[in-house]
Amino acid sequence: LPVERIRNFSIIAHVDHGKSTLADRLLELTGAIARNAGQNQVLDNLQVERERGITVKAQTASIFYKHRNATYLLNLIDTPGHVDFSNEVSRSLAACDGVILLVDACHGVQAQTVANYHLAKQRQLAIVPVLNKIDIKHANPDQVTKDMQLLFGIETASVLRVSAKLGTGVEQVLQRVIETIPHPRVQRDCDFRALIFDSWFDKYRGALNLIYVLNGQLQPGQDIQSLATKKMYNVKTLSLLRPAECPLETLSAGQVGLLACNMRNSKESIIGDTLHLKHQAATAAGSYKPQQPIVFAGIFPVDQSRHVALRSAIDKTVLNDSAVTVSVDSSPALGQGWRLGFLGLLHLEVFCQRLQQEHDVEPIITAPSVTYRIVLSNPRLIKQHGRNTLDISNAALLPEPNSIEQYHEPLVLGTIITPSDYVGPIIGLCVERRGVQQSCVNIDEQRMLMQYVLPLSEIILDFHDRLKSLSSGYASFSYEDHGYHLTHLVRLDIHLNGRNCEELCRIVHVSKALGVARQMVNKLKELIPRQMVQIAIQACVGSKVLARETIKAYRKDVTAKLYGGDVTRRMKLLKQQAEGKKKMRSIANIRVPHDTFIDVLKR
Ligand code: GDP
Ligand code: MG
Repeated sequence: LPVERIRNFSIIAHVDHGKSTLADRLLELTGAIARNAGQNQVLDNLQVERERGITVKAQTASIFYKHRNATYLLNLIDTPGHVDFSNEVSRSLAACDGVILLVDACHGVQAQTVANYHLAKQRQLAIVPVLNKIDIKHANPDQVTKDMQLLFGIETASVLRVSAKLGTGVEQVLQRVIETIPHPRVQRDCDFRALIFDSWFDKYRGALNLIYVLNGQLQPGQDIQSLATKKMYNVKTLSLLRPAECPLETLSAGQVGLLACNMRNSKESIIGDTLHLKHQAATAAGSYKPQQPIVFAGIFPVDQSRHVALRSAIDKTVLNDSAVTVSVDSSPALGQGWRLGFLGLLHLEVFCQRLQQEHDVEPIITAPSVTYRIVLSNPRLIKQHGRNTLDISNAALLPEPNSIEQYHEPLVLGTIITPSDYVGPIIGLCVERRGVQQSCVNIDEQRMLMQYVLPLSEIILDFHDRLKSLSSGYASFSYEDHGYHLTHLVRLDIHLNGRNCEELCRIVHVSKALGVARQMVNKLKELIPRQMVQIAIQACVGSKVLARETIKAYRKDVTAKLYGGDVTRRMKLLKQQAEGKKKMRSIANIRVPHDTFIDVLKR
């Protein structure tokens, strides 16, 4: 197929605006999947995506479409909409020449629409604006079209109107994609060069790579080399994803395809890496840089015998999620483990859910933290570290207050779009979270766009949920990095019967210490089951106790109510109880359910 008949594009939009549903219709229309196959959002194939109803992984499908008597190859990438997975979007855009910018005709332009629009604009991609959900009665396509003109300078006449659910207008979208998105600007009559833009683990074939060929072509049997690692591989198979794998004899410049070449793990298969022919000089194919993680948490096996299994599960999951960073960590209380970096709390939760569902491991996750920067005053520590500033994302490693001269915390510039009715409560929330307003403008008669500088630590846990509930679900939020500022922090320790519980210790702003202390002890009181001994829960800063609660002891005999009777039932109950215990971590002889460490942070 000539390059002129290839189009590579992504669908980008805010969460729930219908990207995955539109992808379904496009696949059906081109015969890639059967109509009414009884499955929705076919590209959302991870268990966590189905359970949560959100896309967390960008997925690719190659489809063939006939337009004016010529067959076109369209490579479509469905992307996630949530801010925590924006790395998936930027990764995907590296293999695209254009995007479908999808906007819900009821809810209108949202914060993530704005963020994604700018991502596409930065990369100078062609934009096909599409309004979705026009089948809904209270949809207001005219108003939303006006907003798009105002915010993005998009011509009102160019905005398509579709219902992804019913399939109305979807055919026009494909035609518009072919007409307005340029074909890939690549060269075929030269040596092979390609960009790795996704990878995942396959039990039989090892790490598989999704590649975008920029130069030349590739065939099974050829020898290739990685620019980053210099390692060499023999090409085993090449395939198109339609979206099922379809073997290919040649993958040519402009195409996107799946490469199997016996790569073993995430250290070999690097997103953004360039592949070229063996022993040939080549330059990097893309300028893709993964986003820097902003939230860090320790991950430890519940017991050290599961260390190897957990390591392998983490490696395979990271292979499929290039935004996660991993470094080795160890703690006197928890043993050997890892410190992982994420793009947000939802990202962390989804990652842990994938560890559990796809690899059957249940680790302990320590309280997530942002990276604080401190300036040391203690000459001994300065000498020990060879510098006077330290970056701390593990609260347990924060030096004593009298060794610290200054504390700095990371900030973000947050963008909130909301119906005007909710502005009051939202300003209240931002003030409570130590936010400083930068601007507040009307988009139209009903909606406002506000910008706030906020401490990152104040938004990672539940800011988004609070914003949604304050605004009946209508406000949306996105944010970008905004440097550091000087502040005052303390370390809050949690003691269970006098023993410091390292996985729960946190760094908090001094003005929040008392509130957080109370909230944490109350929450722990709910989460820790009553046990044989009385449990004293204390939250302390240094030697000062800010809050305390007690869980009374009681004796529990689960089989008592069974009156001896049926032995098998009794055995079953005891077994269930033993299994329940396995997922607990013991601190000072107190059993703490392993997911407590995350749950305690939620308000
Ligand atoms: P994504 O997060 O952008 O991928 O959105 P999904 O494709 O998962 O869709 C979110 C929700 O909107 C689902 O419940 C869809 O059934 C629904 N939806 C998508 N397109 C339409 C549409 O054209 N009309 C209506 N009424 N609902 C739609
Ligand atoms: Mg989706």
